[in-house]
Amino acid sequence: MKVSGPAKLWEKKRSGAAVRSFDESYGLVHAELARQAETEPVFAAHLEILEDPMLQDAVHDGIASGLSEPAALEAARGSIVSMFDSIDDEYLRARADDVRDVFARLGAAMCGDDTSSGGILLTKGCILVADELLPSDTSLIDFASVAGILCHRGSTTSHVCIIAHSKGIPMQMGADISGIHDGDIVEVDDPLVGGIGDIVSRIRAAGRKLYINAGNLDDLCEGMAAGADGVGLFRTEFLFLRRDSIPGRDEQRAIYRDALLACGGKPLTLRTLDVGGDKQLPYVPMPAEENPFLGLRGIRFCLANLDLFRLQLGGALDAAGDVRRMHAEWFADGSPLRLMLPMVCRADEIRQVKDILCSLDPDYGNLLSLGIMIETPAAVLDVESLASESAFFSVGTNDLTQYVMAADRGNGSVAYLYDPMASPVLKALDITVKAAHSAGIPVGICGELASDVRAVPVLLDLGFDSLSLSRL
Ligand code: PEP
Ligand code: MG
Repeated sequence: MKVSGPAKLWEKKRSGAAVRSFDESYGLVHAELARQAETEPVFAAHLEILEDPMLQDAVHDGIASGLSEPAALEAARGSIVSMFDSIDDEYLRARADDVRDVFARLGAAMCGDDTSSGGILLTKGCILVADELLPSDTSLIDFASVAGILCHRGSTTSHVCIIAHSKGIPMQMGADISGIHDGDIVEVDDPLVGGIGDIVSRIRAAGRKLYINAGNLDDLCEGMAAGADGVGLFRTEFLFLRRDSIPGRDEQRAIYRDALLACGGKPLTLRTLDVGGDKQLPYVPMPAEENPFLGLRGIRFCLANLDLFRLQLGGALDAAGDVRRMHAEWFADGSPLRLMLPMVCRADEIRQVKDILCSLDPDYGNLLSLGIMIETPAAVLDVESLASESAFFSVGTNDLTQYVMAADRGNGSVAYLYDPMASPVLKALDITVKAAHSAGIPVGICGELASDVRAVPVLLDLGFDSLSLSRL
């Protein structure tokens, strides 16, 4: 989809003349972050960075050496960010983005901007133009005003891009934004947005299932109301992220029950907690790892935190039991609840989950079916063994691409390798579909690729039984 409109520069807040001192700005930002940290863990991390004496010392040293206050802030930003960038630990290196966030806020406060809203007043229909948008920026952007986003750095599977796409907002990455000024008319070209009508009619014409991805109940209800045949991916981690304690079994039971009811007997694919990598739970100790995307992620994390995992599996079983009592007819041809495990590498991981389910309820097989995501090369290369333990597959191309191509999905400098249509990835998809079909189980796709109008004919040709779109 192509859209055009007046540019609004996201970075403008850093270029104005200083109207507040550093110390006054520090106090304002501190108060604001302390308030936001009460509800959003990402801001608690930002507060910690702000409170680190190194930050204030670096700015004060710069001022004492004769720099103007904005120049001292910029110098401190440069030296602290480059210190993080050079750390030989991927997890800590990724924290450089948070440091940039904190300095951006301080800069905005010094320019007299309202930092709680990102310092940017967006006019309806504008094209947001940014060098880079960070995860915390998503809570500062008023998406209702944005017609499109042009971004220099980042990938199409970044947090901001997934959210923009789920709202139908086109976002072009890798754009040359140099020379763009506020108000210039600019164009965004995003093949992943738009053409939804075309995608839907192709899926329908091929007689395949049209599912949606959802991160919360609102998205789920919206997608079902728009005519989806079910939910192909319910990202349950969002229920766990923005809070300071584990959601209890009853709390989860109520949410999953509402989700099942909203699906009205159509399939609900509940992905078990997928944290680790870049998603941290503030209330569970998650030691820093050298390679977090190759570490305790997805099913590995859950099997290492069984108390937490049992709460989720128990909540899912309870919800299915509740709904079966209300609508036995929905279970006549098998349960509408599909439990899906992320980041599976070995059949043994599925068997461990079956053992836990069985210990919670020996009748679990009548309450839900158990399937897996295909996201790792190991899963593709041992797909027959995994098929013998699974009721269904769903391919997560966002991760499968990064692991097959050995290219971090969020790293702009290797974006040229991160191509879900590259031949090694397509071969992996082909192997998976063939193995699923010879084992007699359905196979879908729930990565962002399913919403790419260019990819859909290829995916249908490969034989996927369902495509789960990020929006309808
Ligand atoms: C994927 O990896 O394709 C996927 C759907 O999961 P997530 O984007 O949540 O990692
Ligand atoms: Mg994934």
